[in-house]
Amino acid sequence: MKRHAIIPIFIPHRGCPNDCVFCNQKKITASSGPVNAEDVRSKIDLWLTTLKDRPGLETVEIAFYGGSFTGIPMEEQTAFLEIAKEYKDRGLVQKLHLSTRPDYIDEEILDNLKRLSVDVIELGVQSFDPKVLEASKRGHNIEVVERSARMIKEYGFTLGIQLMIGLPEDSYESCIHSAKKAVELQPDIARLYPTVIIRDTELYDMWERGDHIPPNQEEIIRRTAHMYKILTEAGINVIRVGLKSSDLINDDVDAAGGTYHPAVKQLVCGFLARESLEAQLHQILERSVASEAADRRSGGCRKVSFYANGSSMSEMIGWQGENKKYFTENYPQFSLRFEKDDSLADGQYVCREKE
Ligand code: SF4
Repeated sequence: MKRHAIIPIFIPHRGCPNDCVFCNQKKITASSGPVNAEDVRSKIDLWLTTLKDRPGLETVEIAFYGGSFTGIPMEEQTAFLEIAKEYKDRGLVQKLHLSTRPDYIDEEILDNLKRLSVDVIELGVQSFDPKVLEASKRGHNIEVVERSARMIKEYGFTLGIQLMIGLPEDSYESCIHSAKKAVELQPDIARLYPTVIIRDTELYDMWERGDHIPPNQEEIIRRTAHMYKILTEAGINVIRVGLKSSDLINDDVDAAGGTYHPAVKQLVCGFLARESLEAQLHQILERSVASEAADRRSGGCRKVSFYANGSSMSEMIGWQGENKKYFTENYPQFSLRFEKDDSLADGQYVCREKE
């Protein structure tokens, strides 16, 4: 049962003069979004009516997504946020949340957001590699990201950082670098988005011409998984991995080059489970003396069990059972079982050899 609900308000491409190669806001934000403050009010009212009977709901958050919120004229930001604040002041919602570009942050903007009770500011950073930012035509540099992130923290907002995987000029190394640089800025939350090549974007044209070849899915998952691990181990709450299908109008039509997958988070967590278990399995293999004895006792097929707690079981087994299949095919010398151990923490996987 979800105790937290988000009222998403999409402000597509409003105020954004940039042309990032991957972006087509009209497609990404399938809703065409509100055009004025009253649309915001009706949208919030509609959501609150839907949420009113949801049992166990503790917090409701209004989130302005979809563009560069603080890039729109100050009067419009104020008009949208005054309405949102009204709901917060009445206790109907608990948090106000927005996302924007790192170069649309300054003191005047932050003073206004503070006055209007905003809680969370997410920065669309995408990468900490200057080559990637340039090839993606982001139009801002790393220094501005660092300065804005620092200011957001100093003002006492919750800071979020969004990173993308698989942009032009991206590599495994630049992804790891980006995750580590993000950790240095100490955000509270993060999102990881493998790049989806959407029609009617410059990236789509680059892909069609063969100027951009996206990494294959396995590589994307490897990069995303290792970034996820770096961020979560640093105590950062990764609130989203991968686009939701509702973020696209029609994923069959709009996502090219096999770049959209509906279950990226499951693939990422399954990858990390497999990596952890495989490392432990190799340690068992290396304990050669013990293994020979165990081989003899079990008639040649050694018994090993993999354990996870109840909520991490599906990640251990892998999306559509792919980890189970992987281990069975690659380690025929073991008789493998996947078992539950609720004494383990979420995301902790343990491999034990049975006598
Ligand atoms: S800054 Fe944001 S809204 Fe503007 S083009 Fe880039 S991704 Fe799209």
